[in-house]
Amino acid sequence: MAHMQQGTNLPKVGSYNRAVVLEAIQASGGISRVQIAAVTGLTAQTVSVIVRRLLEEGLVVEDGSAPSSGGKPRTILRVDAGAGYAVGVHFDPQELSCVLADLAGNPVARLHLPLRPETSPDAVIRRMARAARRILREAGVPDGKVLGVGLACPGPLDADGVMVSPPRLPGWDRVPIKGLLQQYTRFPVTVDNDATAAAIGERWAGIARSAPGFAYLYLGTGIGGGLILDNQVYRGSSLNAAEFGHITVEPEGPECYCGNRGCVEAVCCPSAIEAALGNGADHAAICAAAARGEPAARRVIERVAQRLADAAVSVVNMLDIDLLVLGGPALREVGEIYREVIARAVAERPLARRLHAVRVETSPIAADAAAIGAASLVFHATYAPRLGALVQG
Ligand SMILES: [Zn+2]
Repeated sequence: MAHMQQGTNLPKVGSYNRAVVLEAIQASGGISRVQIAAVTGLTAQTVSVIVRRLLEEGLVVEDGSAPSSGGKPRTILRVDAGAGYAVGVHFDPQELSCVLADLAGNPVARLHLPLRPETSPDAVIRRMARAARRILREAGVPDGKVLGVGLACPGPLDADGVMVSPPRLPGWDRVPIKGLLQQYTRFPVTVDNDATAAAIGERWAGIARSAPGFAYLYLGTGIGGGLILDNQVYRGSSLNAAEFGHITVEPEGPECYCGNRGCVEAVCCPSAIEAALGNGADHAAICAAAARGEPAARRVIERVAQRLADAAVSVVNMLDIDLLVLGGPALREVGEIYREVIARAVAERPLARRLHAVRVETSPIAADAAAIGAASLVFHATYAPRLGALVQG
């Protein structure tokens, strides 16, 4: 709790403090006013005013009391999970994932739809809108309780939610995906790149819940990442930070579409794994074989894990973090192999290894992390204007 985001007692920053208080309540799962003041650094009076407003709006409820030392029992505050909902959509070139999340961050419904690569952008975006409508209808959530739709999609993205020459989606250059989804769903849409959204999802509802800082390594069709540093999403100057997939791990390795050579992505992505084994087996079959212990498949996956570990050591040296989270669909069946190899590397090779340990975890919500993170973007955009401005709210 000592690492919670700090508030400020200056005037005219009410909305920021409100988001800080709401986040403290959401992260705690039950907290008193006195504890909120302690973890946010806000005065008791400021906390009391903000909490009164949150109670009036129905976002927060009083839920029992806890004994306190000496004085009267303290009332426990919780987020009212059913007070609002957001739909999160993750657009992967091969699959649409959709989740419905409540205000406490719980995914209450999920939907996965396969995509054909030849489908036009407009048809795909209409499909997203239909999926969002379907998940709301099936869960019985009325439009009035929907705060918006969050969309996680492959980058790079510009500040208006337009996709700019995504490397693995040639037909998608300059598609205004945010504007079109808004038009087709008639809900406000917040957009972010998929790996950043997945990192936010991990912090909100996954293994990194409330962690002040961690790096997220996303293994999908491509390889990306997300960074939470000092309790903030780190986005870089063009919203494209944490491209771990383009760290060089083989200086003489194959050219990458990005302009660099021997990138993690060029060496470790599913199509590179298929090429390395070279027997015609697809990525899923290779991972299943490696998990069964078949030597050739196992060797390929372990070699890929070593290259990921090289990149992970550089990330740890650069950022001095103590948690690395692995997620994404390409982890299926081989997550534990990757985790072990990377954990060994970050225990033995970073400069600061004698000062602190680095935990490596596979995501418990891997398949849905980006969609859950996308849903949480909506809550941030709605309740945290300062963060909202950063995520194109
Ligand atoms: Zn590259």
